[in-house]
Amino acid sequence: MAFDASSIRALSFDGDQTLWDFRAAMRRALAEAAAFLAGEGLAHETGAVSADWLAQVRDEVAGEPGFARESMERIRLESFVRAVRRCGGDRGLVAEVHDRYMRTRFGAMRLYAETAHVLEELHRGYPCVLVTNGNSDPGRLGIGGYLAHRVVAAECGFFKPDPRIYAHTARLLALPAASVLHIGDHPEEDVTAAGRAGMRTVYLDRAGRPLPPGQRADAELASLAGLPELLRRGR
Ligand SMILES: [Mg+2]
Repeated sequence: MAFDASSIRALSFDGDQTLWDFRAAMRRALAEAAAFLAGEGLAHETGAVSADWLAQVRDEVAGEPGFARESMERIRLESFVRAVRRCGGDRGLVAEVHDRYMRTRFGAMRLYAETAHVLEELHRGYPCVLVTNGNSDPGRLGIGGYLAHRVVAAECGFFKPDPRIYAHTARLLALPAASVLHIGDHPEEDVTAAGRAGMRTVYLDRAGRPLPPGQRADAELASLAGLPELLRRGR
């Protein structure tokens, strides 16, 4: 069925892997953190400190119920506390490795090639908002001026896939959820959750991974570059 854009009044965007490449920046920062700790002579019970091992420790912390509603920064810091402890390292290394990680992670963050000009065009016709579970700063990436609101899970208290983060977004926009189009790369956190809140959805499939059977978005795109045309055609 053709995409109907006639009732869309605002656009809601996920951040990580939608507007910017968070994973690439995180991988560089983890490699930097691992190299620093290994350089300090730290090793854990099964080997040298590696980026993969640090990622495992982070996943372990993030999966604990006590951290379910914590910010990514809090989870990251706790993962460095545990990593250093398991290696028998000096506690003083925690602040330093965390600092190095953060500097690289923010410094290495890049927008996708099409992001800035798509937002530059679309924000003229639609209020655009960021809805994220993460902690990246769109201002540092040069797109803060295109965003009418930033909805950050750790600030509003609702984490995707809780649909209330999207209901909160629609309230901020003073619009019915059905007139907001949410664009994101995650089948559950973006497509299903925003749909449950009543928003229309675009599944951004940069990696060529179609939605699982039974899940539906109003439209699917391989990059944000197709979004202005989708909205124009559907009007
Ligand atoms: Mg994402």
